[in-house]
Amino acid sequence: MPWCEDCAKYLAPSAMLSDGSCPKCLKPIADITINGQLTAKTINLKKLAQSSGEEDVSVPWHFKLLVGALIMYLSWRVIDLFR
Ligand SMILES: [Zn+2]
Repeated sequence: MPWCEDCAKYLAPSAMLSDGSCPKCLKPIADITINGQLTAKTINLKKLAQSSGEEDVSVPWHFKLLVGALIMYLSWRVIDLFR
């Protein structure tokens, strides 16, 4: 989002003037800060996605063992019912 430092406000792209300046204080809004904010956000999103993915991979092996033991136990109980 375009940010005006003088008004301390985020501006919608449609709210800006045609030359890319603030409609209230009529000062130009720098493109450098806009690009910096966008790249910082995308990097943080990638880091968050990677860290959450690692957590999902590290957990399962005991969980799979537990589920496997539970399935074997329940199937044995079902077989035991019909003997
Ligand atoms: Zn302004």
